Amino acid sequence: MREARIGTAVIQLVQGDITQQDTEAIVNAANRSLRGGGGVDGAIHRAGGPQILEECKKLGGCETGDAKTTSGGRLKAKYVIHAVGPIYRGGKHGEAELLASAYRRSLEEAAAHNVTSIAFPSISTGAYGYPIEEASRIALETVMNQLPRFPGIKLVRFVLFTKNDLQVYETQLDKILASQQR
Ligand code: ADP
Repeated sequence: MREARIGTAVIQLVQGDITQQDTEAIVNAANRSLRGGGGVDGAIHRAGGPQILEECKKLGGCETGDAKTTSGGRLKAKYVIHAVGPIYRGGKHGEAELLASAYRRSLEEAAAHNVTSIAFPSISTGAYGYPIEEASRIALETVMNQLPRFPGIKLVRFVLFTKNDLQVYETQLDKILASQQR
């Protein structure tokens, strides 16, 4: 577990299963159809039950870089924020901006629902193939830069599925914090 204070908020890095988090919102690494899928998406729908998919069907899909909110169904979290990251196609197709947008839009959705705590998975670094070193830098920098816009959000937790992914995020966080101190 690693923590960093950003203004009045805290960023945490933990290894775990996002479906088990007790934050008010959890973010899903969804696809544009919002009809469920593998990876985190499948795990969230399995753990949260059919209500989440029923709500998703009414949302009319979601563009890449955008995010939409449903209830948490049977999850501890009150809300699931379904964010669509980019499929990585070499890095020259606007992927970085789209990934940053997915995190930014998730925070906007959280704030719009008066959420004070939110957990993110590592969006796009599974089936969507985004290299995690680069994706983790974008994830952390975007959240750190955007947090001052959302004074109601007091906790942002990144939930990494594997020990290696957690280590990559920890290394990136250390790098970002070190570069800010200079
Ligand atoms: P994407 O299609 O956006 O790449 P994936 O779900 O395939 O999304 O993978 C995103 C990340 O989520 C990967 O690092 C994967 O290991 C991780 N992951 C898979 N299941 C879970 C879970 N239950 N909790 C947290 N992270 C998970």
